[in-house]
Amino acid sequence: MMGNENLINILGLSGIIAILSLVIVLVLKMEKIKHMRNENELLRRSLDEMDEQAKLIVRTDMELNKTQEELDKKMTGLYALQRVSRSISTTLEESQMFKRIDSKCLDELGFEKTCCFLWNNSNEKFELRLCMGYAEEEIGKLYSFAQDNRQLFLGLINGDSNLSSLSFKEEAGLKNAITHTFGVHSFVIAPVLPKEGQKGFLFAGTQNLDFAITEGDEELISILANQLGQALENARLFEKTWLAQQGLEKKVEERTRALSQALEEVKIISRRKTDFVSAVSHELRTPLTSIKGYASILLAGNLGKVPQEVFSRLEKINKHSDELTHMVNDLLDISRIESGRVAMKPVPQDLIIILEKVGDLLGVQLKERGLELIVNISPDALTVLADSEQLSRIFINIIGNALKFTPPGGKITVRSQKRDHLVEIDVSDTGCGIPLESKERIFEEFYRVENPINEQVKGTGLGLALVKHIIEAHGGKIWVESKIGAGSTFSFTLPAAA
Ligand code: ADP
Repeated sequence: MMGNENLINILGLSGIIAILSLVIVLVLKMEKIKHMRNENELLRRSLDEMDEQAKLIVRTDMELNKTQEELDKKMTGLYALQRVSRSISTTLEESQMFKRIDSKCLDELGFEKTCCFLWNNSNEKFELRLCMGYAEEEIGKLYSFAQDNRQLFLGLINGDSNLSSLSFKEEAGLKNAITHTFGVHSFVIAPVLPKEGQKGFLFAGTQNLDFAITEGDEELISILANQLGQALENARLFEKTWLAQQGLEKKVEERTRALSQALEEVKIISRRKTDFVSAVSHELRTPLTSIKGYASILLAGNLGKVPQEVFSRLEKINKHSDELTHMVNDLLDISRIESGRVAMKPVPQDLIIILEKVGDLLGVQLKERGLELIVNISPDALTVLADSEQLSRIFINIIGNALKFTPPGGKITVRSQKRDHLVEIDVSDTGCGIPLESKERIFEEFYRVENPINEQVKGTGLGLALVKHIIEAHGGKIWVESKIGAGSTFSFTLPAAA
């Protein structure tokens, strides 16, 4: 019995254990299933998300493609714009400028129909300057439309504002009229505004229904219209400058002609004057020689003894006729040199030798007036090419003047220096000086500075005029620098001998 009971107990226990294990296994399995279900849910959700992302990627890709296409279009448009801008800005002829806006360019901008009208203020009409994409018979219609709607277009021009098919939100009447007349679906109208000259507007339109114009397209046409305005302005400015230049050239030509005519007349007058002076001087010499001759005979007592009062008068006649002869000779020489009748014989001249001779000649006067003559000749500027007689005359006149206008105790200095192929000779004194306003005039014939010294000092006003002619006949120049009360320096150039 006991044995059976035990067996039953054992069987019951093992049954319970088996059931318990089954329950445990079941619970574990259920847990696993639950876990798997959760994982499955997660997986499904991830798949959904992935699907969303894939859709997003496709959408973004499509948008990117569209943007890329738009960018490509813009780039093409910008290139076309740059090409046409460069092309129109390199011509200064208005007609050429419009010819350079080609249909290819506008096609690339997306517009196959274009025209440009400029307003003529004098006849109050729009004039067509550019027309592309329209048949001959359509043009009249465009003209009439521009003319009939001139207030609209002038308003755009004056307000510097664009009008495009994008501008119309509700009111469609005007838009329809424009699209109908110009035969387009979309369009842009931009003002052409040169600062000067005719202003106008540029119309660009397309029939293409797929081409939805944007603000960017409007901007491009506006830029093209601006460029056109700028180019028109440049052309106008060029035309103005060119006309002004032509006028100026004509004036210069006229003036030059008048001047050369006047110069010819001056030459003729000057030649006549020279001939006259020459003839008069010549005529004066003969009676002067007689006067001097008779005075000398009388003074020598050849015709009997002359009373003292008559003698002194005769001496005056003699002295004055000498002065007159001197003056007549100077005048004659000036007119001879002026007319080229005196041929200079330039040969190498040693300045020291010439100045020694002149010093000897003027020695007595220098001593009388207590003046010192200093000669400072540079060894490289020792010889000049000059006519010996005329060179002496130059020095006698210039040093002679210095003698007259320098107070006792003063100095006269002669210097020379080489200047390229010329020798510059400066004769300075410590005399009264020459006023600034007379610096040029002292080289004119008969000009003498009006001052108290000149009232006492004798002279004809011919010496420097003669000197100037001699120097210029040698190819040189003469000028003076002076300071009142401090002295003057007469400088002149002559060709160097070596
Ligand atoms: P002239 O000496 O016979 O008057 P010139 O033609 O030689 O004529 O000179 C013209 C004028 O130039 C002189 O009258 C004088 O007023 C002025 N002049 C020339 N040389 C000098 C000088 N070294 N200093 C001051 N004045 C001078």
